[in-house]
Amino acid sequence: MLIPLAIAALATPSPMQDPGREHGLLTIVEHGSSAYRIAIQEPETPALRFAAEELREALAVASGVELEIVTEDRIGGRPAILIGHSARARATGAVAAAVELGDDGVIVRSEGDDLLLLGGAERGSVYAVYEFLERFLGHRFLAADCVVAPRRERIVIPPLDHRHASPFIYREVLSFLTADGVLVARQRLNGGNSNQCIGRPHGSGQKVQGFVISPFCHSAETMVPAGLLLAEHPDWFGLVGGKRHGAAIGGQLCYANPAVLEHCTRWVLDWCEAHPEIPCIDVSQNDAYPGASGACECERCVAIVLEEGSQHGPILRFANAIAAAVTARFPGRTIETIAYQHTLATPKVTRPRDDVIVRLCQHACYFHGIDCPALGAEFRQALLDWRASAKNVFVWHYGVNFWNYLAPNPNLAALAGDLKRYARDGINGVMVQCDLQSPGGELAELRQYLCAQLLWDPARDPLEIRREFCAGYYGSAAGDVLEFLAAMDRWGSSMPQHVPMNGWDPAALTPPEFVAAGLATLGRALDAAGGEPQRNRVAKLLLPLWYLQLQWPDRFGLDPKDGAAVLARFRAVVERNSITTISEGPPNAAAFLDQMQARYGR
Ligand SMILES: [Zn+2]
Ligand SMILES: [Zn+2]
Repeated sequence: MLIPLAIAALATPSPMQDPGREHGLLTIVEHGSSAYRIAIQEPETPALRFAAEELREALAVASGVELEIVTEDRIGGRPAILIGHSARARATGAVAAAVELGDDGVIVRSEGDDLLLLGGAERGSVYAVYEFLERFLGHRFLAADCVVAPRRERIVIPPLDHRHASPFIYREVLSFLTADGVLVARQRLNGGNSNQCIGRPHGSGQKVQGFVISPFCHSAETMVPAGLLLAEHPDWFGLVGGKRHGAAIGGQLCYANPAVLEHCTRWVLDWCEAHPEIPCIDVSQNDAYPGASGACECERCVAIVLEEGSQHGPILRFANAIAAAVTARFPGRTIETIAYQHTLATPKVTRPRDDVIVRLCQHACYFHGIDCPALGAEFRQALLDWRASAKNVFVWHYGVNFWNYLAPNPNLAALAGDLKRYARDGINGVMVQCDLQSPGGELAELRQYLCAQLLWDPARDPLEIRREFCAGYYGSAAGDVLEFLAAMDRWGSSMPQHVPMNGWDPAALTPPEFVAAGLATLGRALDAAGGEPQRNRVAKLLLPLWYLQLQWPDRFGLDPKDGAAVLARFRAVVERNSITTISEGPPNAAAFLDQMQARYGR
């Protein structure tokens, strides 16, 4: 869906200017034609061919002119937009400069009549195309079905020497929408759970290596499965209350036992051998229930915990030892370990090796973020302490209400504030866990676009990101949608309750006035929506309000005689958007609809 949108692009000279070489301007398109070719480095790769096709399509949609794609050896004396580590980019020093920016760093540079688009590695060269389109031509990659491409008769580029590298080497949104490999590339998300296959049809193309962490988390159970090994090696598992205890959740290893280290080191080395494509391996604790961590209470583990002043002490020593063995045989690989719940505090004695990444799981207030005066202090301190101790600190951030994917979720401001803070605090990788299970999660597209933009460039203004999203995605309904989102912000920031982590009760915490006002505002948005796609997008915004009304009609002002009509509208949106899951777990949307139908009838 391509919608012209007036975005002031840096690249558009005023009509008074005379484009030409004397000004250093590159006239890419004028009078319905172009002298330029799109040239791919040699040897070309499928990913760079894809990037060239993306550029050709974007320029064609913007101007109506389709450029020819060639490899660099076939430019034939014409000016070119060169993609990747071309000989031209090499000769001008641009490749060396790009490599210094890291794999995903990008350079957009004019050289004579040519334009160079390249990155530190192949992935960066793909991203450079999007950086050029977005920053200099005003294109916006909002969602799989919504790209904004401002129309222009002329495409004229001023002299450019632009370079950019995100401070986050790992950028992931755990969301159903990242199953679309093209959207993932356009939004420059590089996480290993996202589909990193680019090409058409969606998802079936060439794999571009992302920042893959595998196993992804809680690998203790993967490496030392309690069901298989507890009986044979009880002393490999945590001593809890005088008994050895093994369990995938709430059970931990005895990290001070040398036999466990030997077993796991061998496991990780074998894993590295079998998976040369995986750059980062998780060596981390099992999941746990608050207050029932399962941490080992044996003499050796307790001595380390006391010496380090942290339950992470035994785990960090263990992860460091495995990292040393891995780096000796597989240089360049990294080990990632998680710190959260009982292991959040930084060990006082042992520091993570440079090849160890520590990933902290968000442990603050859901609505007010890390800066929450009531719940943020422990996590703020942990961030600073780990940052002072480790070279690489990532964050696992919780972005939605897992108990109610479809409830209103007033965390956009806190989410944006936290992502910007991570950049300021020197965190260099972030994953935001959203609704991975189903399309149609509350504000899923906006939340992902906001995260992707801030993870790529945390200096951006979150409200500007929101405005450009709404203008492109909701069209003529954007004004009403922005009013609705502003009301949601006011509710979130003024909420008197503080809620940790990821699940909360919307019946108790959502003000009925917010729902009533939201229904009115979004009703106007529905009337204002220009076409069917926009109407459906606005209808998806209404789902959370109907969801509350249907479940708690008294509190949220639903007259029972209107229940069947609201349910019919709710059902239509759920079915049209293939929504399968309304809270974390197996698909449960159909059961919810049945339950509501039993209450309200057809
Ligand atoms: Zn122990
Ligand atoms: Zn709070």
